[in-house]
Amino acid sequence: MTRTERTLCVLASGVALAIVCARESGASERIATSTDAACREPSSAVRVEGTGLRATLTAGCEQSTTFLGIVRRIAGTDGIVYGKVGKCGFGVRSCLPHTVAFIVDRRMLRILVANDNADVEAISSLAHELTHAWEVLRNPRIRTHSQMLLLYEQIGYHRGLVVETSEAIAAGRQVRAELLSRHMTTLALR
Ligand SMILES: [Zn+2]
Repeated sequence: MTRTERTLCVLASGVALAIVCARESGASERIATSTDAACREPSSAVRVEGTGLRATLTAGCEQSTTFLGIVRRIAGTDGIVYGKVGKCGFGVRSCLPHTVAFIVDRRMLRILVANDNADVEAISSLAHELTHAWEVLRNPRIRTHSQMLLLYEQIGYHRGLVVETSEAIAAGRQVRAELLSRHMTTLALR
């Protein structure tokens, strides 16, 4: 039996840190990737640090239409999303810190993830956080920390100190289902 946990979006009152986060545990089958990535760096609007996370991004783009759709939507905005392995705090493993930086006139968001193993867990978690980035970037008026906080007050829901959106949860679950389905199909064809 696979167990999945999600603890998302910590809101730290009075601190310039409010994050949308994902915590998941479950299937960990490593997914093979090819070199023909649909989402290439550094030209892509989604950029990641490290070979492990790069493999995660590539696998997501190649093996999940939902994942690829999220990346393509982000690429249609003025935003850039940087992903790296890091600690979110607040007991969550993956997050989108509520800070907006600028590279010239482009908005830049950061994603922190715990797992860069390019497996189902890592890819679906990245999809979840990229969806949060999309939630921000699709609205060109969201350009400050305060505006991000207000946005998530409008579109998110709280669970104690945790805030989440149904859209990000659904995206992560859909990507996960696509990856597992693909994996099972691959096994069946062997
Ligand atoms: Zn979330």
